[in-house]
Amino acid sequence: AKSAGKNQFQPYDSLSASIQNRKLKIAKQLRNAIKNNEFSLVYQPIVQLSSGRTVGSEALIRWTNAENETIGPDEFIPVAEHSGQIIEIGNWVLQKACEQCKTWHSAGTMKHIMAINVSSFQLKAPFFAKGLSDILTSLSLPAECIHIEITENIAITEDKMSVSALYEISDLGIKLLLDDFGTGYSCLSYLKNLPFDILKIDRSFMPANNTIASTIIAMGHELKMEIIAEGIETLDCYRFLNKLNCQYGQGYLFQKPVPPSKFDIFRQFNQEV
Ligand code: C2E
Ligand code: CA
Ligand code: CA
Ligand code: CA
Repeated sequence: AKSAGKNQFQPYDSLSASIQNRKLKIAKQLRNAIKNNEFSLVYQPIVQLSSGRTVGSEALIRWTNAENETIGPDEFIPVAEHSGQIIEIGNWVLQKACEQCKTWHSAGTMKHIMAINVSSFQLKAPFFAKGLSDILTSLSLPAECIHIEITENIAITEDKMSVSALYEISDLGIKLLLDDFGTGYSCLSYLKNLPFDILKIDRSFMPANNTIASTIIAMGHELKMEIIAEGIETLDCYRFLNKLNCQYGQGYLFQKPVPPSKFDIFRQFNQEV
């Protein structure tokens, strides 16, 4: 090893080396994760703000590795994207979430929407829309039950394959949702050029009385798009958004993401309590 005096950037180098090691370790552990049943999905209600009614849910992946350590999707999804494992993991999520949707759809009196997060890397893979359509056919699940959530990403607009995948999904009758809206690259050209139906306002804009949130809602209304607000944690925030006619919301105020056994499709939020 070099002496510390000569190597002034050593603390940074060793920091990035340990991050690199952790990523490599995660990529290695991910290899057997599906086979070993280490993934599960939890579901968070999507609430119609005017009525408090649960209209659907968002599927969120959870991972407990072989060492019994829980690793969050914010950490392992980027690793899986980089390694290519996101394709297999993403397919697992699609299948599992659609099966759950079918169960709830059949049990309920109204349709249950299932919102599924899809990585931009999945869109680049050939036949993504075909795979999705095959899952719907095999479950005889109506396309209008599924929402696909895509995070703003410059890589999508610049990739012909991804853009045509978005149109194919949309042509199936599946609604496309632009996730984390307002945090990413190119909000307005996205809305103009791509077939998105719904905007999800990022939770970083969520404290009540936020001008950015109200501006996004007003713009969404102008564009005839539906709006979902994520990260609603307080009654004040809920009332603020409801007053602005934001149609839907999610957040700890209503419920944290839970396993399917704890999810109640008939749950109604009562703002008086
Ligand atoms: P996201 O799609 O923006 O999901 C919202 C995140 O906010 C979730 O974190 C959710 O648990 C959390 N959340 C919900 N309500 C509240 C609230 O009131 N307050 C706060 N502070 N947080 C709230 P989670 O489950 O850790 O997921 C993180 C990200 O990982 C997701 O962000 C999404 O980008 C990604 N992700 C999760 N599941 C999947 C998946 O199946 N596939 C892909 N490609 N990405 C996924
Ligand atoms: Ca999402
Ligand atoms: Ca978000
Ligand atoms: Ca996200």
